[in-house]
Amino acid sequence: MQQLVCAEPGQFEYRTVPEPTLNAGESIVRIRKIGVCGTDIHAFDGTQPYFSYPRVLGHELAVEFVEGDAGFKAGEHLTVMPYISCGKCVACRKGKTNCCVNIKVLGVHTDGGMTEYLSLPSYTLLRAEGLEDDELGLVEPLAIGAHGVSRAAIQPGENVLIIGAGPIGLGTMAFAKIAGGHVIAADVNEQRLAFCRDELHIPYTLNARDTEFSDHIKDITRGDMPTVVIDATGNLAAINNAFQYLAHTGRYVLIGLQRGDILVNHPEFHKREATLMSSRNATVNDFEYVISCIRDRKLFPSSFITSRLKFSEVADRFSNTVSDPNNIKTMIQFHD
Ligand SMILES: [Zn+2]
Ligand SMILES: [Zn+2]
Repeated sequence: MQQLVCAEPGQFEYRTVPEPTLNAGESIVRIRKIGVCGTDIHAFDGTQPYFSYPRVLGHELAVEFVEGDAGFKAGEHLTVMPYISCGKCVACRKGKTNCCVNIKVLGVHTDGGMTEYLSLPSYTLLRAEGLEDDELGLVEPLAIGAHGVSRAAIQPGENVLIIGAGPIGLGTMAFAKIAGGHVIAADVNEQRLAFCRDELHIPYTLNARDTEFSDHIKDITRGDMPTVVIDATGNLAAINNAFQYLAHTGRYVLIGLQRGDILVNHPEFHKREATLMSSRNATVNDFEYVISCIRDRKLFPSSFITSRLKFSEVADRFSNTVSDPNNIKTMIQFHD
C-alpha cells in the first residue's frame, strides 16, 4: 500500500509499505479523508516542538472499518479519537484521557493517517451515523473547541471573547454560541472575521489590531468585560495581552499552545479573582457531543473546508495550499 512519509522538514515521500496486520485490541481501517491540522503544517515546516522524523502525519480522520474487535461492520464509516492513552495514570483514572501522562497522539508521536490502511486501538474508533466523510474528518478539531468550551462552563448570556479565528477558534465560537454565550470574535484577518459573521452568525467581530479594541469590548459588554476569554491563537503576545480583557470573576481558557512563559501581572489577576485554565485535546464525551451537534444540524462544519487535495497530490501541492493566509481547512481525500 501507499504511504506518505514526512521524511524530514519540508520533504514528503510516497513509500510502498506492507499492509498492517491485525493485533489484539486493534482494528484495521481504510482511510477515506484526512483534515490538515496546524500540527501537520508545523511538523512539515519543522517548527513543531519535540517532533521526530520520519513520521506519517494526519490525525483528523474519516475512516472505513475493515476488520477487528471494535464491533463495527465492515464498510462502516467512522471517526477517530486520535489519542492513545495509557488507562493507568492519574488523569486516565479520572477519565481525563485527553491529558494522559503517557499520551501518544496519532500522526504526532506515532504514525498517523496519511496511508491507505491503518491499525488502531479499537477504542479510538467512534460511530457517527448520519455524518458525511467531510464531517467525520472534522470531528476531532471541533472536539478541541468543544472541550475548551466545556472547560469554561459557559452559562447562557455570558459574554465570551474568543481570540483567533482559525479552524480551532471557529469551532470554539460555534460551541460557545450553542452553549448560549454572547460571543465576540477577534482576529487580525478580515476575511476570517467575515467568515465568523456570515457562516457562524457571530454578532460581534473585532479586528485585534483595532486601536480601540478594548473600548469596543467594553461597549459590547456594557462595561462588564467578558467573563470568559478563550485563546485559540497560540500566540504568546496575544495570550499575555488578553488578561486585561477579563471581567472580575472571569475564566481564561488557553486552547492554543506556544513554547514560552506566560507573563501575568499578579495584582491585576488577583483583583479579578480570575481563573486560568489550559484545555488539552478532548475526551470521548466531547467527541460524542460534537457528533450529536452536527447530526442535529446545530452547526455546519463543512463550510470550514476551503481547499481539497487528492492523496496523490499532497507531496507536490501541500505547501502552496496550506500557506494561503485565507485558507481555513484543507481536506485530503483518497477516493472520489
Ligand atoms: Zn489537530
Ligand atoms: Zn494515562
